[in-house]
Parts: sequence; structure tokens; C-alpha cells
Amino acid sequence: MPRLADSRKRILVTGGAGFLGSHLVDRLLERGHEVLCADNLFTGTKRNIEHLHGNPRFEFLRHDVTFPLYVEVDEIYNLACPASPVHYQHDPVQTTKTSVHGAINLLGLAKRLRCKIFQASTSEVYGDPEIHPQPETYWGRVNPVGRRACYDEGKRCAETLFFDYHRQHALEIRVARIFNTYGPRMHHADGRVVSNFIMQALRNEPITIYGDGKQTRSFCYVDDMIDGFLKLMENEDGLSGPVNLGNPDEFTIRELAERIIALTGSRSDIVMRELPEDDPKQRQPDISLARKRLRWEPSTRLEDGLKPTIRFFEDWISEMTGAAH
Ligand code: NAD
Ligand code: UDP
Ligand code: UDP
Repeated sequence: MPRLADSRKRILVTGGAGFLGSHLVDRLLERGHEVLCADNLFTGTKRNIEHLHGNPRFEFLRHDVTFPLYVEVDEIYNLACPASPVHYQHDPVQTTKTSVHGAINLLGLAKRLRCKIFQASTSEVYGDPEIHPQPETYWGRVNPVGRRACYDEGKRCAETLFFDYHRQHALEIRVARIFNTYGPRMHHADGRVVSNFIMQALRNEPITIYGDGKQTRSFCYVDDMIDGFLKLMENEDGLSGPVNLGNPDEFTIRELAERIIALTGSRSDIVMRELPEDDPKQRQPDISLARKRLRWEPSTRLEDGLKPTIRFFEDWISEMTGAAH
């Protein structure tokens, strides 16, 4: 429902040209807010926000969050950070800088403006967990010198900064620990399991399962995730987080491959590849806190979310093939 004009806010979304960010921007605009999207387009694309061209309540700023940002806004969502291993390992030093320097700059901005700030944290703060599912009280098991550390430790340090600005400067913060999310506008070449499997299935290429395929993940559809962001940000009963947001329905990677093959009617075979270093064996959110305090839980079943995601990739492939001819 669009909000009344007097509750209209000017909201900064960093990483707003990315997968989750662009969906968040759409929802904030639908609610009648003004949105300033700041993004350096490292993994995001203008294509994700091109439908907003000409919208007087939308503004795009090409900006790298590792540099200071002086703007005037009422609220901040900090999503800027490459999210998939192939992207965040491409320039690991920049990844840590994006999380840490980015958090410092945006917290400094929020402190000057005395405005509420949301951090997109991650289930990766739990690393390769020894307890299952993971509640927010679990401190995690992260290898600080491995290839995933630039992302995991960067996000952990960003959480530290958020809670210290909260305690030291009485800043109002919201920290969401996001578990694997999928949907339209995912990057086709981000190397993540949902995009890889769908692209492979649509092209009838072999589906690459890493390891034995018995490792599990829990996949949340993007619309449910954005509902969770908004509920957490708008919650006024003192919940700063961290709060797990994700879909607790757990699937093995092999099951995911089989479902995608069935839904696409693909002729792809399954092939096994080596498991990457520090690949978590199990991941499932414990969302009791979000259920209780935010009255939030995902409602989209895997099949129902995979269908629009598959359509998105089909369109993308046909557009690219059309462009090549
Ligand atoms: P994405 O890569 O599509 O979006 C990230 C956006 O940040 C991109 O538009 C990118 O260009 C931008 N960006 C990267 N570095 C930047 C910098 N230095 N300055 C400005 N912009 C920069 O990824 P996503 O899946 O939309 O993830 C959004 C946020 O959610 C990230 O912070 C990510 O860590 C977090 N998250 C996502 C998932 C998921 O499953 N998608 C899971 C856990 C956490
Ligand atoms: N900052 C910013 N925009 C602002 C205010 C601050 O980008 O409107 C950045 C600035 O680079 C600063 C950082 O945020 O270094 C942290 O700000 P804070 O006030 O916490 O620290 P200080 O300025 O004292 O180092
Ligand atoms: N994976 C896979 N084949 C692929 C891509 C990923 O089997 O083509 C596996 C990967 O090893 C991991 C799981 O799928 O066990 C999820 O990987 P993704 O990179 O999507 O997310 P994350 O590991 O960050 O949860």
C-alpha cells in the first residue's frame, strides 16, 4: 500500500543496482518514498534499475562506499558488497574494504544525520557451523585466513562496527543476517548454485554438483526477503538484531538440481566436481526470533519461486542471443 505523503522519506540504498537492492528500491518507491541508489556497478547493473528511468522519486549515484558520502537522507539501507564467492574473491582486498570502510562511512553518515541504518549481514558470519540450525546466539566458525574470509570476516567486522556505533553513539541500527536468497535479477554468472543450475539446465549443459551433492542449503525467494527487510527496519520495539532472515526449508544440492531439471524439462546430465575450500556442509536458518518479534516468515515454496526465476533467465538468454544476431 502506498504510504501517505507526510510519511514520505528520502531513503539511501547502497548496492541498490544489485539483485536484492533493486527489489528493495522498487518496494520503497511503491510505498511512496524517495530513493537515492548509490552503487559502483561492480556486480550490479543499470539494467536492474532501468525501469525506474524518469521516475522523479528515484535518483542514481555512481559511488564506491569505501569513500565518504555526504548526502541528506532520512534512512539508510547498506547492501553494497559483492555477495557471491566468484565476485567477492575476484578482488578480496576490495571486498573487505567494502564491508569495513563502507560500514564506517555509512555509520558516520547515519551518525551525522541521526538516522536509522540497516545492515545486510549474512549467514556466512556463522562460517561452517557446528550447530544446526543456527540461532543468532551462535558465534560461528570462520576460518580467518581462508578464501572466504574477506567476505565472512568483513561482514563480521561490519556487525561489530554497527553494534559499537549503537552502544557508543546511540545510533539506531538494524542488522539482518541474510541466508541464501534467489529470484529474478540474480546475476547470470555469479557462480551461485541457483543461477548456475538454471543456466546449465536451460542450455542443456551438464549440471555441475560440487562434492557429493549431499550438502544442504535453504533458499529464500527474494520477495519474502524484502518483506523481512522492511519489517525489521520498521520495527519499533527495540529489536536491533542481529536477526536471521531466510527460508528454513532445507534441500540438498542434488535435490535442487533434480527440481530444476524437472521444472525446465532439461536434457542436462548431472556431473560431479570438486568441492570448493571451506564450503559449508549444512546451512539452515533458525528464524524463531524473526517469527516472534517481526511476525515474519517466508511464504514462497521453492517451486513457486523457481518458476519466475527460470522465466527471468529464459528472457535473459533470448535477449542475449537476439543481441548476438
Ligand atoms: P549483488 O552483487 O547483486 O549486489 C551488491 C551490489 O553492491 C551491487 O550492485 C554492486 O555493484 C554493489 N557494490 C559492490 N561493492 C560496492 C562498493 N564498494 N560501493 C558501492 N557499491 C558496491 O548481491 P546481492 O545478492 O543483491 O546482495 C546484496 C547484499 O546482501 C550484500 O551486502 C550481500 O552481502 C548480502 N547478502 C546477500 C545474500 C544473497 O543470497 N543474495 C545472502 C547474504 C547476504
Ligand atoms: N562520513 C561520511 N559522511 C558523513 C559523515 C561521515 O561519509 O556525512 C564518513 C567519514 O569518512 C568518517 C566516517 O564516516 O571518517 C566515520 O565518521 P565518524 O563521525 O564516526 O568518525 P570520524 O569522522 O570522527 O572519523
Ligand atoms: N554448488 C554446486 N554447483 C554449482 C554451484 C554451487 O554444487 O554450480 C554448491 C556449492 O558448493 C555449495 C552450494 O552449492 O555447496 C551453494 O553454493 P552457493 O555458491 O550458491 O552459495 P553459498 O556456498 O555461499 O551458500
